[in-house]
Parts: sequence; structure tokens; C-alpha cells
Amino acid sequence: MNNQEKEIFRETDIRPDEMIEKQEAYIEADREKLLRQEKDFVEISCPACNSGGSELIFVKNGLRYVTCKACKTLYVNPRPTAEILGKFYSESAVYEYWNKSIYPASDNARREFVFRPRVEKIVNFCKKYGLENVAMMEIGAGYGTFCDEARTSGFFKDVIAIEPTRAGAESCRKKKINVLEQPIEAVSLDSSVIDVIASFEVIEHLFSPKELLINCSRLLRKGGLVVFSCPNIVGFDNLVLGSASPTIDHEHLNYFNPHSLEHLVTTCGFNVLEILTPGKLDAEIVRKQVLKGNYTLDDQSFLHHILIERWDELGLNFQNFLADNRLSSHMWIVASKKG
Ligand SMILES: [Zn+2]
Repeated sequence: MNNQEKEIFRETDIRPDEMIEKQEAYIEADREKLLRQEKDFVEISCPACNSGGSELIFVKNGLRYVTCKACKTLYVNPRPTAEILGKFYSESAVYEYWNKSIYPASDNARREFVFRPRVEKIVNFCKKYGLENVAMMEIGAGYGTFCDEARTSGFFKDVIAIEPTRAGAESCRKKKINVLEQPIEAVSLDSSVIDVIASFEVIEHLFSPKELLINCSRLLRKGGLVVFSCPNIVGFDNLVLGSASPTIDHEHLNYFNPHSLEHLVTTCGFNVLEILTPGKLDAEIVRKQVLKGNYTLDDQSFLHHILIERWDELGLNFQNFLADNRLSSHMWIVASKKG
């Protein structure tokens, strides 16, 4: 779940306070459960460039965050194995709560603010790069709303959801979406028949983002597209708030920057077509932390001037500047499988 998107729901008042409070307790329970398996965590090299050189930046909630000296990716090291993560997500109290309570309660607003714009973006990328008669696969389909909207758009000849958690797959089935309840590495299709693979806010959670990309390449036809979104660690709210950024949490293991993500995707057999940061809420995320008293801009008068004193006048322009210059924390990458 993406913090830049979560903010939208708070603004529209569709998540009552008691829901948020309840979620905090589930997050805490999930985190404790994960950390109880710390003795089985493993050391890795950089998830973007495979370099072994790293430097400890901070420790948060018992996890060590290091930066790759070569490509500046921030990552959790040591980290839970793929097996531990598989079990963690399938039993996650937070995800069950979202599936049972928050998703159903916020479905209409999420369709309007999150999923329809996502479908429009994917359709536009397909048109821009000449894909027709498109079979689309989403990895990490969750509650299934994106796939549902994609089908409603009428643009795709086929929509396939990959959702390894039981609760998520069940939600997809209820929407009559073609769902494969298995991890991507287990998915086997007759041949490379997929034209576009979309995956939103997934790669930052994975033990090995590289494995995901290799599996995407296996399932895509030549010239097919991958479209991923994930946090950008050199985006505004992440750089300003540092370890206090709400993006830095126990679920997120990989924090790429535009260059390191480009490197990773290229080494997995793709041509990178676009890297964008279309985030809308960086400035507001920092502003809210300041207004809540969680963060101070007392020694950063320029940012105080923009985010507090002249917010109504400058806030939107400032956010647009961030988005247009790859400075937002919400990043998209579009790449095509090499022929
Ligand atoms: Zn690296």
C-alpha cells in the first residue's frame, strides 16, 4: 500500500478514525511477528546492482537500513527470506483487515482516485508504444479492483490477476476475475503470451526484485511492457523526513532511486522507456508531519515558507515542480522486453 495513495483516503474522510487506530494495532502485531524470526534473516548484496559494499544509515523498529555505496539504493539488510515473507503476507493481520474492512469501505473512492487513473495510464502506455489486442497481467492484484477496472475499460483482450494470498485471490474470484492464486515464479503459461505486466507498489516488498523481473521477462512476449510503481528514495518527502518518513516501514525492503531502478531493469533484459514521478502528495505529507508536531521546519525557513506560510498559494505549484523533475517519492517505470 502506498502512502501517497493512502493520503487520498484520509482527505476524503472515508476511513473513520477508529479504523486507522485499529490498523495501527495490526501493524504493530505484524511487525512483532516478523521480527520474532530475525535469527533466520539473511544478508544480501545490493538488490539493484548486486554490489557488496554498503553502509549502515539507520536502524528503525529493529531493522537495519543500509545504502549501497555504488548505486545509493537503500535496503534492509539482513532481511527476511522469501519463505518468511510468503508466510508473513498470507497471515498478515493488516492485509486481512484491509481486505475485510478498509477496501470494501473505500472501494468507490479508490476506484475513482487510484484505479481508474492507473488503468488510463496503462492504456496510454500501450497506445504510445504500439501494443494492440493486449493481454494484461497484474502481479499482486490484492482486492482485484485494478483488474476489475481494466476489464471494464474494454481495452484489453485478456486480464489476468496474480495474487498469492488466499484472501486477495478470493476477493478477485468474487469479482469474476481470472486469478492465479500462486506466486509469480510458480506461474506457467503455454508460451510468452502476455503483452503487458503491471505491478503497483510490489517490488519494494520483495526479497528479490530481480527474480520478479526475470519472471516477467519469461512470461512477456518480445517487445512486451512492464509497468511498475514503487517509492523513490530520493523523492521529496523521503529526503526531507529521512528515517521518519512513513514510507520507511517493515514491509518495504527495497528503496530504489531512478538510476538504480533503471540499472536493475536494464540488467534483467529490458529497455527502459520512461521513468516518471507522478506523485501528488509529497509536499502535503511533509506539511502534515509538521502540523502534527512530528517534524519541525524551524531550521529550514525556505521550506517553512512554502509548506506552511504560503501553502495555499504555492503548494500545488511546488508539488507539480517535484513531480515534473523526478523529485517526487512516487515513481513509475516503463520498460520493454528486449527482442
Ligand atoms: Zn547498488
